[in-house]
Amino acid sequence: MKVTNCKFLKIFKVNAIVLYPFVLYCDSCPDTNIVMHESIHLKQIKRDGVIRFYTRYLVEYFKGRQSGMTHYQAYRNISYEKEAYDSARAT
Ligand SMILES: [Zn+2]
Repeated sequence: MKVTNCKFLKIFKVNAIVLYPFVLYCDSCPDTNIVMHESIHLKQIKRDGVIRFYTRYLVEYFKGRQSGMTHYQAYRNISYEKEAYDSARAT
């Protein structure tokens, strides 16, 4: 299910986010690449489970931040993000 909620997304400084089972987009007509990226996260959640996905996602993010990475570096270093960007690039 797609929901547009820009105010909420601004808190996280993102254009889209998966809050399973919802995908929130800032734009009512989101870019195809963003839709594809978020659909890969939905597949990851279905594959690994909701709890494991979000736990691993947050642990990897905060480990990155603790090691001195910027927000963006820590975000891009999350294994789920690497997989999503690599999968989107391969299609
Ligand atoms: Zn992502």
